[in-house]
Amino acid sequence: MQSAKDTETKTAGRAQLLDGAVIAEQIKQDVAQEVRQFWAEEEVKPCLAAVRVGDDAASAVYVRNKIKACEEVGIRSEHHALPAGTNAIELLDLIASLNSRGDVDGILVQLPLPGEIDESTIIDSIDPEKDVDGFHPVSIGKLSMGRPTFVPCTPAGIIELLERSDISIGGTNACIVGRSQIVGRPMAQLLLQKDATVTICHSRTRDLPSVTRQADLLVVAIGRAGFIGRAHIKPGATVIDVGMNKITDEATVRRLFGAEADTRLAVIARRGYTLAGDVNPSEADEVAAWRTPVPGGVGLLTVAMLMRNTMKAARLRRGLE
Ligand code: NDP
Repeated sequence: MQSAKDTETKTAGRAQLLDGAVIAEQIKQDVAQEVRQFWAEEEVKPCLAAVRVGDDAASAVYVRNKIKACEEVGIRSEHHALPAGTNAIELLDLIASLNSRGDVDGILVQLPLPGEIDESTIIDSIDPEKDVDGFHPVSIGKLSMGRPTFVPCTPAGIIELLERSDISIGGTNACIVGRSQIVGRPMAQLLLQKDATVTICHSRTRDLPSVTRQADLLVVAIGRAGFIGRAHIKPGATVIDVGMNKITDEATVRRLFGAEADTRLAVIARRGYTLAGDVNPSEADEVAAWRTPVPGGVGLLTVAMLMRNTMKAARLRRGLE
């Protein structure tokens, strides 16, 4: 992949893709090396416990991908799949037992949980030392103070992607669309730590395009397929598309994917849907300099950073960091 340094003259035009797969692979190889070293020194492997409740198909796929990544890097994993109908007390009991086990380094609870279980209560019950998703209030508080902590995996992965692609952050105008706890807010904290001038937009932002058009670096995490188009993007900007939306209809595919539409329609015919981000790729490519694709962009980095956080938890818990 070309780096930004190789293309200093590149401004607007046909955006180049930032390849999440290549960078996720680099991160996983780094973690695999650390796991080998940890094994050699401690004679134990880091262990991630993944907890899932109910029958949500997407959650099952996400957890399966995380377990698979553990196998790839040599991290031991446990999959606790609790049936639909599990109540909060039962879930809290499981987390308490995982908290107390010396051989478990990281705990992740796959969200969303069934509606009757309060997610905050569950997240708050995870031992902050094992909070590899970085969602616990202690982790969020430390992040907002600029102190070392577990950083939520998606925004942490985006920083890795930018840095490993030689895209400058310091001094740029960065704009984040979306203010969720898992993406928008921690993303803002990380970009601020990296000396960007940060603006956060949300559903009540007035005249969104006039704000986003100021951004050298635009991160979009709203959950609305192809919402961000030509009018939102500054020529030459870097556009990071976090959204993952299932598309099933031909009209939307044609609107978003241009020359790639037929390939995407074939995916729908085979699988029932195709994934689109929150950015309209056809329009973004006319103005941006760099763009992350969906799929193949940010999503892969999220899992890679979970591996890194689990490795970090194992070292921290043994006083090695
Ligand atoms: P949430 O639903 O928690 O938050 C969405 C945010 O977008 C809210 O802050 C909301 O504003 C804002 N928003 C919604 N509509 C608009 C609009 N029209 N204009 C401006 N802002 C708007 O979403 P998440 O952060 O959890 O996820 C966002 C997307 O990213 C989803 O598609 C999700 O699937 C994907 N995702 C991908 C990950 C990956 O690994 N690639 C990881 C996590 C998420 P308000 O606060 O005012 O309601």
